[in-house]
Amino acid sequence: MHDFEYLRPETIEEAMRIYKNGGKEARLLAGGTELVNEMRFGKSRPEQVIDLKHIREMDFMELREDGLRLGALYRVRDAECSEPLRMSRFNVLSHAAGTLGSPQVRNKATIVGNVCRASPSADLIPPLIALGARAKIKGDGVEKVAAVQEMMLGPGKTILEPGEIVTELEIPNLPDYTGCSYCKLSPRKSLDLAVVGVAVMLQTDSNMSRCIDARIVLGAVGPTAIRARKAESLLRGRGLNEDMIEEAARTAVDESKPLDDVRGSAWYRKKMVEVAVRRTIANSLEQVRIGRR
Ligand SMILES: Cc1cc2nc3c(=O)[nH]c(=O)nc-3n(C[C@H](O)[C@H](O)[C@H](O)COP(=O)(O)OP(=O)(O)OC[C@H]3O[C@@H](n4cnc5c(N)ncnc54)[C@H](O)[C@@H]3O)c2cc1C
Repeated sequence: MHDFEYLRPETIEEAMRIYKNGGKEARLLAGGTELVNEMRFGKSRPEQVIDLKHIREMDFMELREDGLRLGALYRVRDAECSEPLRMSRFNVLSHAAGTLGSPQVRNKATIVGNVCRASPSADLIPPLIALGARAKIKGDGVEKVAAVQEMMLGPGKTILEPGEIVTELEIPNLPDYTGCSYCKLSPRKSLDLAVVGVAVMLQTDSNMSRCIDARIVLGAVGPTAIRARKAESLLRGRGLNEDMIEEAARTAVDESKPLDDVRGSAWYRKKMVEVAVRRTIANSLEQVRIGRR
């Protein structure tokens, strides 16, 4: 690996100052499961590496009346294992976290690192978009909030400028009778990226007979996670029956834009989008049912 300067700020202010001075030649490191590999294989050669891991104020998870806050250092394994999160209405994040990589990777990886890496097959991005997550971003004189969905520009590309740090994610509380779930399809059961990853958020009426709102997010079948908006609008305001769910799943297929690659052909991925959307809608309905008890 090339030589670089390693810096270890202990506050967000200090990290911002260092990052501002380092500019384009500096890179942020959280869990390092992406960045260290990129550096090892020469894909990235930063002059400065700013290790965020010692910034305690970014290491938290807070469940509140008005929603959930996740600090930028909250790890994937924390989300997988946290009892309060698993028992909360945001339990889709625990489930999705448990599908990422291996326990070793999850112990290091952060959720915010998953977002900032912007991989098309990232496991946490579809559920975060389905939940309406927003990122708090701080930079030199900049403090802004961006929807996770709006952050994604393409594979590995986000709206983040050099000098900008995501400090936390915030997720608004979910209305009553809402369920959210994530389905990952991959050839191997672990240590494999998604061939298709689908997250669905579904809000129903109190009888669970009509859909009030729906968000369907398709991962690994386009350059970024895709909202299947036509499929969503088919469901919204309509009766929830098998025919309607089938139609929504078929419509989502037309909204996906998969490519052929080593993990699966575009043809196969499209077939799997239909299966995964159907399955994820059913799982989200089950979540609503559990919440009603
Ligand atoms: C063996 C292996 C298996 C994997 N399997 C999967 C998988 O199944 N599913 C999946 O989705 N991913 C997988 N990954 C990818 C990776 O583990 C995740 O993307 C992880 O969540 C990245 O988090 P991190 O904290 O390690 O990021 P890092 O490597 O530290 O950073 C990733 C990128 O985000 C930037 N960044 C980090 N934090 C911030 C911040 N606060 N503000 C601004 N920018 C920031 C960094 O500069 C870097 O560009 C795997 C990786 C490995 C090595």
